[in-house]
Amino acid sequence: MRLVVVGAGAAGSLVLLHLARHLAAGSEGSRVEVVVLDPNGPVNGAAFCTTDPRHLLNVPASGMSVDPEDRFDFVAHLVAEGLLAEGASPYFFAPRAEWARYLRTRLDEALAAVEGRLVVRHVLAAATSVARDGAGVRVTDSDGSTHEAEHLVLATGLPTVGDDWAPRDLSAQERYVADPWRPGALDAVVDGEGDVLVVGTGLTMVDVAVSVVGSSATGRRVAALSRAGRLPQPHAESYLGEVVPDVSGWGSTLEEIRGAAVAHVREVEATQGSWRPAVDGIRYRVAELWGRLATGERERFLREVAGDWGVRRHRMPPTTAAVVEQAQEDGCLEVAAGRVVAVEEAADGFEVETADGRRIHAAWIVNCTGPRSDVRTLGNPVLDSLLGADGGPALATTDPLGLGLTTSEGRLVGADGELQPVWTLGALRRGELWESTAIPEIRVQAERLAGDLAAVAARCARTPLG
Ligand SMILES: Cc1cc2nc3c(=O)[nH]c(=O)nc-3n(C[C@H](O)[C@H](O)[C@H](O)COP(=O)(O)OP(=O)(O)OC[C@H]3O[C@@H](n4cnc5c(N)ncnc54)[C@H](O)[C@@H]3O)c2cc1C
Repeated sequence: MRLVVVGAGAAGSLVLLHLARHLAAGSEGSRVEVVVLDPNGPVNGAAFCTTDPRHLLNVPASGMSVDPEDRFDFVAHLVAEGLLAEGASPYFFAPRAEWARYLRTRLDEALAAVEGRLVVRHVLAAATSVARDGAGVRVTDSDGSTHEAEHLVLATGLPTVGDDWAPRDLSAQERYVADPWRPGALDAVVDGEGDVLVVGTGLTMVDVAVSVVGSSATGRRVAALSRAGRLPQPHAESYLGEVVPDVSGWGSTLEEIRGAAVAHVREVEATQGSWRPAVDGIRYRVAELWGRLATGERERFLREVAGDWGVRRHRMPPTTAAVVEQAQEDGCLEVAAGRVVAVEEAADGFEVETADGRRIHAAWIVNCTGPRSDVRTLGNPVLDSLLGADGGPALATTDPLGLGLTTSEGRLVGADGELQPVWTLGALRRGELWESTAIPEIRVQAERLAGDLAAVAARCARTPLG
């Protein structure tokens, strides 16, 4: 069987890892040839291209195993690498670069173990279009080469970052970082001089802050602005567990669900002294609750609730939170609510004006406002092509809000309602699941998707002409 995987990031690599393991465990005859298309190397996407050891995972090591059934595998890797003492608590927040190395290592091991029955060729190019080719697909890349395959996995990750907040086009400015998730994007800012304005106050801003002012007295300052001026909450100092609620009586409107969730959080806080186990428990029920909401209610959730949920659900590791707090106390990090209304170039950077009349001088501006939300307007050519924007038949459709692609258990449903030989996982399933961007969810999807592909490969092996 031939397979094309678009995206060599965490999700694409997890699919290959689990496919190798399924093939190794399955019938001898199955063989899969894979072309991976990605201009970046393996596990080098938004979260994992950083080389800064201060950029930590926001999930403890015990939640980051590549295998959902083998919870402590990443912990074992950290112990084997001497990064965690034998017997130490697995409630440890490792550098993201180390997790990338771990996934690459496990992938290499799995490919070696499957002994040529999964052959992977990485082409350093972007996928630009997809067309049906008989029962399979034909994918064209940015070098103009075409790749035919029976199946396609789309693992393009989080949508690109947006900068609609910018009062004018800043893309030509050398000291403006439009996309902080690009490999090496922050190097010039971190190695350079002068103060930094970060637009956005979430976890990516925290990355910038710890790199610029975190470790030593550099004399530099970071000002971070967002509409609400809210920082992510810190994780607890030690593992508190998860209280997974029974949501059967939580209703199906946003009002009902919000009320029940608040009651759950209050109850857990009263008995356990922290809201965190309640929020971490709700995470297991998010897909089910999201599925109950009508489109208008989902829209309202995004407008009114998602921000609050995000700062509690995507938290800072305790050590990072301590660095941030110290930087705030020392006056080298300021986090505030504000809206940029004007940006002018100055000799050594920018003069920025906010809606409340404040003027900020910054040598650098870094855009940390997060991913765009509508996959129909991202300008990623492979998605545009699948959605029929290039005039071809639409092999993909989206949910009404454009948060993700419509699938049946990860398999794309075309505009004609037919299942396509195209699969997806991760952020492109946000419309169906909402919580679908982090490794704890993606590894489960990858394992299932790989199982389905291995079953197809086994069928191909039994009927080579069919
Ligand atoms: C700053 C940050 C920190 C995070 N920290 C964590 C964390 O600690 N724990 C956690 O579980 N999750 C974390 N996440 C969530 C994170 O997005 C996922 O865990 C993980 O990166 C998702 O993997 P992915 O493969 O879907 O996306 P990515 O790893 O971003 O990979 C997508 C790949 O697709 C490629 N691509 C896109 N379009 C094309 C195209 N047209 N052709 C070819 N290739 C293409 C890109 O080049 C990229 O390599 C974080 C996210 C961010 C942004």
